[in-house]
Amino acid sequence: MIIKQRLAKIKDTLPEDVTLIAVSKTYPVDTIKEAYNAGQRIFGENKVQEITQKQPLLPDDIQWHLIGHLQTNKVKYIAPFVSLIHSVDSEKLLIEINKRAEQNNRVIPVLLQVYIAEEETKFGFNESELDQILSPDHIEKYRFINVSGLMGMATNTDNEQKVQGEFKKLKSVFDRLQKETKSLGNVDFKYLSMGMSSDYKLAILEGSNMVRIGSAIFGSRS
Ligand SMILES: *Cc1c(COP(=O)(O)O)cnc(C)c1O
Repeated sequence: MIIKQRLAKIKDTLPEDVTLIAVSKTYPVDTIKEAYNAGQRIFGENKVQEITQKQPLLPDDIQWHLIGHLQTNKVKYIAPFVSLIHSVDSEKLLIEINKRAEQNNRVIPVLLQVYIAEEETKFGFNESELDQILSPDHIEKYRFINVSGLMGMATNTDNEQKVQGEFKKLKSVFDRLQKETKSLGNVDFKYLSMGMSSDYKLAILEGSNMVRIGSAIFGSRS
């Protein structure tokens, strides 16, 4: 019951054009069902092993998003069913996703992860790498991938101004690339995935239209 209430409260505050990803990592299938029964259909997981275990046990109309770092040798396990991969952070991964998508007779939508935080451990492309990847003769090779936008994670800090600055930066890169890629067949900049439980309100103010929220729905993971 509490999950239903938390979901309703969050949804109340989200503008209509913002998509909510319920981040269910570490939570059991029964807990996910509670959110499903409350109407939630999009769930995010950060580990391939976990997403592939849970997917067959839950209803078919769930859209599964992979939001965590992805190793190339694991793409094959999620390629048949994944709805959106948020965390594409290398050329190697694009090559592998394209190959596995073709084998599964489908186009896999992805977001390019952008490095916006200060922390050394964060994955993602910088702006000049994005420009290279999204150059027309380059990206159009990946016929079984649709590049649907960008994802970023802000620095994990209480310093709101810093987080806000990082979100602003990512939004401006998103806006520029959205314009520059308009004519490309397999690029469709629809989604800017930024914001988690601690910072999604700020992310939305700064232009996010896809938020990845875990603990504010399911409780702390401890
Ligand atoms: C865990 C996770 C989230 C959600 O974090 P919460 O603080 O629980 O909302 C969002 N994005 C990514 C990439 C994550 O790994």
